Amino acid sequence: MAHLQLDAFLISSPANCFYLSGFEGSRGYLLISADSSFLLTDFRYLEQAGIQAPHMELVTLDKHFSEVVAALIEDEGWSDLGVESERITYKEYCWLKERVNVPLKAQQQLVEELRAVKDEVEIAIIREAARITDEALEEIVPLIRPGIREKDLALELEYVLRKKGGSGPAFDFIVASGRRSAWPHGRATDKKLAADELVTIDFGVKLNGYASDMTRTFYLGTPGKKHEEIWNLLLEAQRAAMEGVRQGVTGQEVDRLAREMITRAGYGQYFGHGLGHGVGLEPHEQPTLSTKGKEILAPGMVITIEPGIYIGGWGGARIEDMVLVTGEGAETLTHSSRNLTLQI
Ligand code: ZN
Ligand code: ZN
Repeated sequence: MAHLQLDAFLISSPANCFYLSGFEGSRGYLLISADSSFLLTDFRYLEQAGIQAPHMELVTLDKHFSEVVAALIEDEGWSDLGVESERITYKEYCWLKERVNVPLKAQQQLVEELRAVKDEVEIAIIREAARITDEALEEIVPLIRPGIREKDLALELEYVLRKKGGSGPAFDFIVASGRRSAWPHGRATDKKLAADELVTIDFGVKLNGYASDMTRTFYLGTPGKKHEEIWNLLLEAQRAAMEGVRQGVTGQEVDRLAREMITRAGYGQYFGHGLGHGVGLEPHEQPTLSTKGKEILAPGMVITIEPGIYIGGWGGARIEDMVLVTGEGAETLTHSSRNLTLQI
């Protein structure tokens, strides 16, 4: 904050609030300066906040939040207020603008940058989340058969993940079969899986606040030549990218390793998304691995490597694993087998 010449900073993203304070409630704001830290929440969360964030000074939101913020700014004598411009709602911004008498300064990705590098405790949780993810997939593989609805498969997965200690799904699971497998983010529907189809399953669990994220694509039956060609290409592209993951390289450079391989094979136009992203308190966070990913990889970052090829009207496939950037290179955290063929 000294570097940014900022007196005070209002944090409104729940993930950022949790990261800095430990507070898990659904409504809360952190208001911090170089030498004070306030947690603003309402009656419902007061006792919880005291226990989860004992080092924060609790302030009850017994008035409108913008009035509480304005009063604190005046009491503390701050001369400006940073806000998370990508997180605050327009309504909150208007309220603050109306009541706060100091300039509001838009800040981007401040806490997110800190969150990108995980410490040992965070890595241990993510490692466990990845382990549960692998185990859950293994348990539901016998259910991936013609006749089951995509939605039921998603439900079974969620059930197994919760039974294994997860607190819930990390995001809406993608179960996309047949032609729908060409939709990179096709949510599970009432469609039933059928023989001789591709099915892409992209899922993850939340554990102690942290997410996992993994994708496998299966072919129900004996895959054709084109299916195998695409799958082998994705495997090679993923391997090349994983081997290129090390501290000091940018997300862009890692993306290029996979993208060039896919492009050389003639499928570049069908790989329309980035190669991967950071995973942590949110399933998608810094750093970005894409043609635009400028962030430099550092030890402690947890990222996904997920090349995909999607051909409209035909189908698609993606393979996604979580990787920890280490001092020496990278360590893969998800270990589920990468077989395309599912004998039915
Ligand atoms: Zn995913
Ligand atoms: Zn992902």
